[in-house]
Amino acid sequence: MMDAMWMGVTEPMADPKPAPGATWRAMLRAAADVVLPPVCVVCRTPVASHGLLCGPCFAGIDFIAPPLCARLGVPLPYDAGEPSLSAAAIAAPPAYDRARAVARYTQTMRDLIQGFKYRDRQEGLRLFSRWLARAGSELLEGARLSSVPVPLYRSRLWSRRFNQSALLAQGLERLTRRRADCFVLRRVRRTASQVGLSAAQRKRNVAGAFKVSPARAGDVAGKAIVVVDDVITTGATVEACARV
Ligand SMILES: [Zn+2]
Repeated sequence: MMDAMWMGVTEPMADPKPAPGATWRAMLRAAADVVLPPVCVVCRTPVASHGLLCGPCFAGIDFIAPPLCARLGVPLPYDAGEPSLSAAAIAAPPAYDRARAVARYTQTMRDLIQGFKYRDRQEGLRLFSRWLARAGSELLEGARLSSVPVPLYRSRLWSRRFNQSALLAQGLERLTRRRADCFVLRRVRRTASQVGLSAAQRKRNVAGAFKVSPARAGDVAGKAIVVVDDVITTGATVEACARV
């Protein structure tokens, strides 16, 4: 069984209880604010605390809310009062079991994800992790081995220095106390960026690009896992992951 979650649906959840040392951290944070005043993760206008969005940017996020297709996680036009499937899920059932995403890919969401991915703006990670935990709560309840990030190919990892999907999976681990396992999936060949490709091209581009790491195959065989990535478009990447 494989589920998948993306950034891409909810209001911030309440933080867990303050951990020991939280007062010290609050003081350090206050000291840091003097040096680096908190700014909106998207547009850099001043905000109340680090890692938040300003009001107009928050309003620019189109969170995905129920009723949802039980399979694809896309919004349904009306609530039938029971788990329902979208026409797309019935016509072409995906290789994975369920997908959930945080928000639609609006301009604000695009700016947020691109800043995170290409400009090292990781101050929003906590916020993104809360959104993901909320959007994927049903998926995380069932998964024994949770949060397997979509891997990058070695050379891309070198040039970008971090894997944004792995950061999201680790952010989820901190919030949900469920393990993030970054070594389950491997990208065994370099693939072109999916940006600008058609659905068929995307499918061809990533087919066979992923393998389960032989060292971890025994741990994951027959278990439910949740694949985490930053953006879903046609679902080609997660399809390729689910077929390994
Ligand atoms: Zn803003």
